[in-house]
Amino acid sequence: MDITVLGSGSAIQFEERASASFLIEANGKKILLDAGFHLLDRLEKNGIMADEIDAVYISHKHPDHFFGLLHLLFALKNRYYSPKEKLHIFGFKGLEAWIRSFQKLMGRWLEPNIELIFSEDTKGEFDEIKWQTFKTVHSPESTGIVLESKGKKIVYSGDTEMFDKLINIVNLADVFIAECGSGNNKKIKGHMCLNDILYITESAKVARVLLTHIYPETDQTDAEWKHGATLFTRSYDHYKISL
Ligand SMILES: [Zn+2]
Ligand SMILES: [Zn+2]
Repeated sequence: MDITVLGSGSAIQFEERASASFLIEANGKKILLDAGFHLLDRLEKNGIMADEIDAVYISHKHPDHFFGLLHLLFALKNRYYSPKEKLHIFGFKGLEAWIRSFQKLMGRWLEPNIELIFSEDTKGEFDEIKWQTFKTVHSPESTGIVLESKGKKIVYSGDTEMFDKLINIVNLADVFIAECGSGNNKKIKGHMCLNDILYITESAKVARVLLTHIYPETDQTDAEWKHGATLFTRSYDHYKISL
């Protein structure tokens, strides 16, 4: 599995850090984990066109995690693209009604000529990529996701506060994409600070952590360092890992 960080930032203006989006490429498929602002621009800079996306996972309802999906749906109407027949959209409970409500509001502008296949299941399999969502502590519907393929495991925290079950969830992960939206000193409710993430990796076996959802206050760590056996990277847009 290959991971490309498309957006390592959050909701605010922050030069070179778009809001949350990650591209997972595995078994010939392209899956987005969240679809933040600037998604299409970030895909283009990585040589990926909008019509190459197979599936989009949306973790929760905050605009910095899904507005890019609305842009994607609009773009796919354009004759510039040759969309596939289907686009899979999966994630939190109530996702389909949520996205359909925007389609209702915007009418045909958000109705590309492709089949949208929604799933609100908590687990499934997509071309030999097993996925399972988990509840996070952030908003009523918020989730994170575990992806497993060919013996590799990626965990994406979505947005969340630290919670003890997360230790079990990230255990044995090859990569933990961990939101770090809170400063260590100035704790923000609903987000993790670096100390929370260090604590998780002291109890769980995790090969690599990619810090993301970075605010100016959380942009102060070293670029890369080891904590115990875990390699920490303060991620940035266009950063890539091949597993
Ligand atoms: Zn967010
Ligand atoms: Zn959020």
